[in-house]
Amino acid sequence: MRTALVYSPHMDAYRLSERHPLRPERVTLAVELMSGYGLVHPGLLEQIMPRIATRDELLLAHSAEYIDAVVQVGLAPDEWPGGWGIDWGDTPAFAGMHEAAALVAGATTQALECVLDGSYTRAFSPAGGLHHAHASRAVGFCVYNDVAVAVKVALNRRPSLRVFYLDIDAHHGDGVQEAFSADPAVCTLSLHESGHYLFPGTGFTDERGEGDGLGYSLNVPLPPGATDECYALVFDDVVEPTMHAFAPDIIVAQCGADAHHADPLTSLGLSIPGYRSLFSRIVALAEDLCEGRIVATGGGGYAWATNVLRIWTLLAAALVGRDLPDGLPAAWCARVRALGFTPPGGLTEDRGIDLDPETRASVLAETRRAVAEVLAGALPGAEPGAHPFLPTAAR
Ligand SMILES: [Zn+2]
Repeated sequence: MRTALVYSPHMDAYRLSERHPLRPERVTLAVELMSGYGLVHPGLLEQIMPRIATRDELLLAHSAEYIDAVVQVGLAPDEWPGGWGIDWGDTPAFAGMHEAAALVAGATTQALECVLDGSYTRAFSPAGGLHHAHASRAVGFCVYNDVAVAVKVALNRRPSLRVFYLDIDAHHGDGVQEAFSADPAVCTLSLHESGHYLFPGTGFTDERGEGDGLGYSLNVPLPPGATDECYALVFDDVVEPTMHAFAPDIIVAQCGADAHHADPLTSLGLSIPGYRSLFSRIVALAEDLCEGRIVATGGGGYAWATNVLRIWTLLAAALVGRDLPDGLPAAWCARVRALGFTPPGGLTEDRGIDLDPETRASVLAETRRAVAEVLAGALPGAEPGAHPFLPTAAR
């Protein structure tokens, strides 16, 4: 079993602005921590240098007019008048935007390709997971939707492929859902903080896909504060049964680190050990269902100097099947200190979210309600059990 790490230091060109929360150091320092633990090594994570996605590949998920606009932005960012979602807010213009975004799309495309052609069983594209980008619009820090491009390229080459996309980022995976909403070959399942509270304001249980894809978009909106226990429940009752019923050839997992309770942009309640447990469950599902084939990406995560780096290192460890010692490498801690941050006390050190018993119970009850709606097939007026592929036992 071989695992690829599709990453190059050149990916730090995806820098939206100097003070932007999606700092490229989130990825570079995560890879440094993986290296510090000895994970980037032949037989463990084998590094592959990514290539830039071609225009033809990007065109599978984006309009020609939008790609042309992104190219134009990157050539003269200071003259950009705004438009296509590229403005002075979440997703600002920057020099070289097209090349930087197409490199992320190329990396995730290569990650899928190297697993599907059999050279690797698992692959990790840590700079990927830009799940908000739409066909003709940059949204929420995302320019090109690397996952949508990668999966569409894979489907083009292998029309009978079945892909299960699991998104545990704190935000709804709206761009990926949109790209495959009418396609029953791709099941998308997003676990996220409810759109009642968080950007992008979508991802409710009644968003279930359309046409032939009806029933193949699944959403579990979670209440603020959703704990490790809530996530374990959602995995038991939704993630595992839907993956088993769908029987994918490959799992693509967007592993945004912003569902952590200390993330400054969101309000969910996962802990570092909670993330570790989800990663081992996702890898085990790939073993059970598709001969281990899995592509993991990064995603959001804004407590970047501490939690994000540890969470993605634990993901890498799960992918290569290694337990890591809790003591953080001294050289890496020195790097974090040099950037003005205090390194955490250990790889899994985390006091967890602090909720009083009443709130904890109500958050769990709200999670149970969301799960029940998903399993009932929450179309207005739908009969319970109308879901096209959920097994009877899961309804
Ligand atoms: Zn996010």
